[in-house]
Amino acid sequence: MSYSYESIDALFEWAPEGALALVKQEISQLVRRDKAVLADAFYDYMMQDPNASPFLSVKAVEARLKPGLQKWLERLLCHDSEAELQAVLAMQRHVGEVHARAEIPLQLVARGMRLLKREICSRIVAGRLGRSETLLAIMRVTHLIDVAFEEMSAAFEHSHEHEVRTDEAYRMSAGSGDLLLERERQTSALLDWESRLFRAMAMGLSLEGGTSLTSSAFGLWLNHKAALIFDNTRELPLIAECVARVDNAIFPEAVFARKKAPVPDDVRALIKAVTSEVEQIRFLLASMFERLTDLEVGRDVLTQLFNRRFLPTIMKREIELSRRKGTAFCVLLLDIDLFKQVNDRFGHESGDRVLQNVAGVLVGQVRASDFVFRYGGEEFLILLAEVDHIKACSVAEKIRRRIEASVTPLTDDQSVSVTASIGVAAHDGHPDFQHLVDRADKALYQAKAAGRNCTVLAES
Ligand code: GH3
Ligand code: MG
Ligand code: MG
Repeated sequence: MSYSYESIDALFEWAPEGALALVKQEISQLVRRDKAVLADAFYDYMMQDPNASPFLSVKAVEARLKPGLQKWLERLLCHDSEAELQAVLAMQRHVGEVHARAEIPLQLVARGMRLLKREICSRIVAGRLGRSETLLAIMRVTHLIDVAFEEMSAAFEHSHEHEVRTDEAYRMSAGSGDLLLERERQTSALLDWESRLFRAMAMGLSLEGGTSLTSSAFGLWLNHKAALIFDNTRELPLIAECVARVDNAIFPEAVFARKKAPVPDDVRALIKAVTSEVEQIRFLLASMFERLTDLEVGRDVLTQLFNRRFLPTIMKREIELSRRKGTAFCVLLLDIDLFKQVNDRFGHESGDRVLQNVAGVLVGQVRASDFVFRYGGEEFLILLAEVDHIKACSVAEKIRRRIEASVTPLTDDQSVSVTASIGVAAHDGHPDFQHLVDRADKALYQAKAAGRNCTVLAES
């Protein structure tokens, strides 16, 4: 997503000679002089708002948010070139995404922007500019803040919509009873279509447009419902290809059948083609449903751990709990060391066995209240509820030693051992869960750099 804005200077072309330069200079001076006061006013105002204060801890505001806002004001309002402005606007998109993940309501941000405009404009009015330059300066500041807000809210809406869709997919897939029923229903709809086609052919009936697989009950379900439930699965486009092949195979024959009685050989070839496509569809359908049954409970198919897809939901809940109860929680990010070598030496299937074994070790070492996710290929994320960083490090070390000591049997006379590196991060009150994961990731990177098979705690 990218917008091209009119050059901001071009917008003020009508201004008298020299006025724009004077206005820019005045705004820059004012913002550079008062940015700290403006940031204080902004956060004082926000902290008073009962809707905003849950998102803001005093520590975070002082340490990070106020300096961040000062920098933002300066970059947005005192930029020297169009390129600098574009860079700030690009940053707005990122800010929008962060706000969306932290679920900060957009109207709160809008209110904050309103306050900033008011504060800056009142300073402009009190300044030394003449009447028309004052007007020009107010227009310029308002325009710049509006554009930044617009950019940010576009990113916000975009990621918000994405999360709503994930939640929706999750909801639709909830309830395995329904899924099993749906699977049975669609398989029999497919077979029903097949047997009706064969019956029509056996009776020498002409095949009409309504006979196509696309327009059958199964085809309709595929286009309307499956696309929603099985968003982004590998099987769905393959099934659509099979359906297209079936319809393309039947219809030239159908025209032929209308003209004269079909020759048995042709009929046989057609039946064979349709049967094999239908078999293929049934196979794909089964594996698509099976995978969803695993996903539905948020499980990774190989390891049976929580699927990364549900990390946002669970992390947001823990952040909320920690805020309400005032308890700490930690995240461990674990990556198997030199795992590629295991695959290269013993094969991918053995690699899979190692992953399953490590997953088992992880589950065995945490409490029932903790969450273990398969985060990526050979990466795992563990959320330890209600523990501080000291306890989290000792859990991490225990896990690391267990993995080191554990052996995965491959064949009768072959087995393999691996080690893992772990990054630990304690939640620091930041409302965006990605911030916590990024800190753990950085610590993990340091653990790798320190020679692997070790644990590193992220700085807070
Ligand atoms: P490092 O210590 O730096 O982490 O080295 P590494 O070899 O573990 O890291 P790298 O990222 O280079 O390789 C990870 C490998 O994990 C590559 C990929 O083929 C393998 N892998 C990812 N997912 C799976 C999986 O599901 N099964 C198997 N068998 N291998 C996987
Ligand atoms: Mg890795
Ligand atoms: Mg690795």
